[in-house]
Amino acid sequence: MSISLPDIVAAQQRIAHMVLRTPVIEDPTGTGLMLKAEYLQRTGSFKLRGAANRVIKAVEEGARHVVTGSSGNHGQAVAYVAQQLGIRATVVVPEDANPVKVRGMQQYGATVEFCGLTSNERLARAAEITRTEGAVFVPPYDDPFVMAGQGTAGLEMLAQAPAVQTVYVPIGGGGLISGVATAIKESNPQVRVVGVEPELANDTYLSRQQGAVVDIGASRTIADGLRTSHPGTLTFPIVQRYVDEIQLVSEAEIRRACRYLLLTMKQVVEPSGAVSVAAALRAGAGPAVALVSGGNLDLDAVAGVPAWEV
Ligand SMILES: *Cc1c(COP(=O)(O)O)cnc(C)c1O
Repeated sequence: MSISLPDIVAAQQRIAHMVLRTPVIEDPTGTGLMLKAEYLQRTGSFKLRGAANRVIKAVEEGARHVVTGSSGNHGQAVAYVAQQLGIRATVVVPEDANPVKVRGMQQYGATVEFCGLTSNERLARAAEITRTEGAVFVPPYDDPFVMAGQGTAGLEMLAQAPAVQTVYVPIGGGGLISGVATAIKESNPQVRVVGVEPELANDTYLSRQQGAVVDIGASRTIADGLRTSHPGTLTFPIVQRYVDEIQLVSEAEIRRACRYLLLTMKQVVEPSGAVSVAAALRAGAGPAVALVSGGNLDLDAVAGVPAWEV
């Protein structure tokens, strides 16, 4: 099941009251680089867009309880949307989940359930809750409503930066880039869409080389939102159709981009959000937009990182 521009336009209307139209911020030093600032989105990431589109639709169809299996930004987004709509949310997280993120979900009123260490254990438990409690499962990326919701960031960006030539987008499971690339290519095919992954989490890059979904297993990149081991079965064909190129960035380039965002742009961004900026900085000047996907920086996790010095 694919998506097209009308799905994204419909999503934009459906979620308008729940999401912020985040700003596009220019580099003051005149490089031509602009940031689509999704780290300023409610809940701290673009994930709110897809979660809102999926959960509002489910509630229209009678849902009173949603469940997901994500420990990160998607879990917080689902919790927030459920709270706004006055329904229950259960988020199944690993035993070693980050306490900061768990607290975030609880603050948005979600029931947090700890289960195992692997995503398979979590997804099995979430599926059980779906069956036994009649809840609706909200996937983090491989879902047409989630992809269309994420695509609304692309529509906004085209309106805000009409002269843009190249757009850089982080890739985890590929929900964000599927939506954004569909929005862009079906509005203005001249705009180049570049997907960006860490070298240490290059599953979509490898899948593209093979022409089929490849699973890379566990990853240790600092960009924890991009550690997905494989692209989705719905997202990958869209990446194949609409993404012009996938670039890889090193851990040192990600840290350098975080530093640039802090010191030059004065913005607080999480490493997953900075990979797009890392690729854009390497490419140099030109009217480019880097989609900066999240700002839920875990200070404890980066405090010990050696090369905030460069
Ligand atoms: C989830 C996430 C991504 C990756 O999005 P996908 O839809 O999985 O490709 C990128 N950055 C941040 C901050 C995220 O939370």
